[in-house]
Amino acid sequence: MSTVSDYFGCLSFNDTTMRERLPKETYKSLKKTIDEGRTLDINVANIVANAMKDWAIEKGCTHFTHWFQPLTGVTAEKHDSFISPNGDGKVIMEFSGKELVRGEPDASSFPSGGLRATFEARGYTAWDPTSYAFIKDKTLCIPTAFCSYGGEALDKKTPLLRSMEAINTQAMRILRLFDPHTTAACIRTSVGAEQEYFIIPKEMYEKRRDLIFTGRTLFGAKPPKGQELENHYFGTIKPQIAAFMKELDEELWKLGILAKTEHNEAAPAQHELAPIFSQANIATDHNQLIMEIMQKVAKRHDLICLLHEKPFKGVTGSGKHNNWSIATNTGVNLLRPGETPSENAQFLLFLCAVIKAVDEYQDLLRISAATAGNDHRLGAAEAPPAVISIFLGDELTEIIDALEADKHYDPKKKSQLKLGVDVLPNIPKDNTDRNRTSPFAFTGNKFEFRMVGASNSIAQCNTVLNTAVAEALRQFADILEPAEDFETELNSLIRDTIKKHKRIIFNGNGYDDKWIREAVETRGLNNFATTPDALEHYLDEKNIKLFASHGVYTEPEMRSRHEIMLESYVKTLRIEANTMIDMIYKQILPAISAYAKDVSDTGIAKKALCAEINVDYEVETVKKLTSLTSAISKSVKELENQVAAATDMDGVESLARIYRDFIVTKMEEVRSYCDEAEFLTAAEHWPYPVYSELLFGII
Ligand code: ADP
Ligand code: MG
Repeated sequence: MSTVSDYFGCLSFNDTTMRERLPKETYKSLKKTIDEGRTLDINVANIVANAMKDWAIEKGCTHFTHWFQPLTGVTAEKHDSFISPNGDGKVIMEFSGKELVRGEPDASSFPSGGLRATFEARGYTAWDPTSYAFIKDKTLCIPTAFCSYGGEALDKKTPLLRSMEAINTQAMRILRLFDPHTTAACIRTSVGAEQEYFIIPKEMYEKRRDLIFTGRTLFGAKPPKGQELENHYFGTIKPQIAAFMKELDEELWKLGILAKTEHNEAAPAQHELAPIFSQANIATDHNQLIMEIMQKVAKRHDLICLLHEKPFKGVTGSGKHNNWSIATNTGVNLLRPGETPSENAQFLLFLCAVIKAVDEYQDLLRISAATAGNDHRLGAAEAPPAVISIFLGDELTEIIDALEADKHYDPKKKSQLKLGVDVLPNIPKDNTDRNRTSPFAFTGNKFEFRMVGASNSIAQCNTVLNTAVAEALRQFADILEPAEDFETELNSLIRDTIKKHKRIIFNGNGYDDKWIREAVETRGLNNFATTPDALEHYLDEKNIKLFASHGVYTEPEMRSRHEIMLESYVKTLRIEANTMIDMIYKQILPAISAYAKDVSDTGIAKKALCAEINVDYEVETVKKLTSLTSAISKSVKELENQVAAATDMDGVESLARIYRDFIVTKMEEVRSYCDEAEFLTAAEHWPYPVYSELLFGII
């Protein structure tokens, strides 16, 4: 194995491998299943399973696992070996079609939000043949969906697959209206998720319980140098990081993951990896693998990869940029402005569908990025804001404005601006977005949703996007299919849609307070600053109707997710509060006291030596430290009481509100005293590495 093209995908049971290893008929039949979403014949499955097993054993595997994405947000696997006794005390290696297509992990320990009573422990996993099997740690991994016996989705993947089907159905209706003889058999959503992360020295990480237990620092005074020099973004990559990135790329390439770009990000110690886009479900699987492998490879380099949204206060947090577009199976990107007037009319209709979808389901998009960790980014003076808006760029906005104004403002210009005449063919192609403050930006041939947190799965936001756009397309198709005069109907549909939904378009600075006021007060857009604020709207009737009508989530499935999201918000904050309390009693208060005693001893010694000596510095320092220890011990006690009281409360919704309204604020207060004390305390007394060491520790 020498060049990248030699080993790329060597650990993935991809199309080339399948073609090489499967009998022609089996390959064709499997291909049909993959391309057309048919059910797999068990005889075919048996042959595929056997070929997969032989391939995996040659690569040193002894085990297989169904690999799935339960609602915990991380992936799960249960390993089984291939061994099967052959009766004479020996074993043979076996893997049947049944084992390939279906697994039965004990589902009772995964969150189900009340969907599955725990006594009904069985759940099953089903192979998603559109995502290739792969080898990880000498185990053959089969990407699967995870459902209860009643058929309810217990994972993030099943609804994503369903939403892909929903948008496929509706987009095909639109395509056939523009071209009844279209050669496209289906459409797919493509996704490229740029992943941000921090890298810090492992040795320092191990000394911080907050990082170990919560993934972020709960304390930390501002270092003398932060990111103000703006010299880290795209800066030279340090040798230790470069070595890590090189190995990371190699590992990902072996799995057939198209890791493309690696660079430094805005904050010190922050980096980004961007893969080349692929089909939404595959991109989602790959993003989960990227996160897992980043963390694993970092450790081999004595580094720790932090995927938390906000590991350091005062330093830009990490997100994921979910680039999303729709393309036919023949490779035509439906969000690319076209060459001809008719293609452009089709492009504008798809564009309008996205505008309508994002405006009508702002709440769901916001919810798809709502976690306790991400609350530190969204709505907290950082990119992007919690208000959803769409950036279209100046030129496209002008076209949209002209289309809208057509009828009302300047009837003379009508013929000029009508769809299909000369203004439209000139839609600028390279409409590249450089507005980094928009949560949802059109970038020439795709949209980039920038709200998702660095540690979140991208399944949820893509499920929302696919379904909301499917709904807009469904409504469009319902209007256009029976139209007698397609052109006229299309024109007025586009115009009406723009008129109704243009409040969501905003090309200015998304960080600006003025914008937030305008968005909320003048335009009536949502501003859900926190996770509980956003989740209050998850079960709104329109949202239940949306998902149910497209067969993406049933109402019980939504209720269960609502509960799980709230629970996870509360649990995350509870762990953070408890970690704070623990660190304060065991590390911070003892450290400050010990230092105060040191200073005090020095003062006493000086005085004993000579009564006239000035000990103002010692006295002042001891006084300040003592007032801080008093403030810390008082506020930490209050925090403890609040956490204890909240534990006894009933109902996860009210619990979430208590955490949001009181506990988060108290944690901020406790932290501010501790950070002040850290600033005043001698370095050798501070019990763990501070920000300057964590952020600038790699040289
Ligand atoms: P940047 O956003 O930094 O300017 P790029 O424009 O190169 O970077 O693209 C960022 C991401 O968008 C990459 O992961 C890329 O593969 C993905 N991307 C490009 N085209 C599409 C598309 N049609 N659909 C989905 N993702 C895409
Ligand atoms: Mg980008």
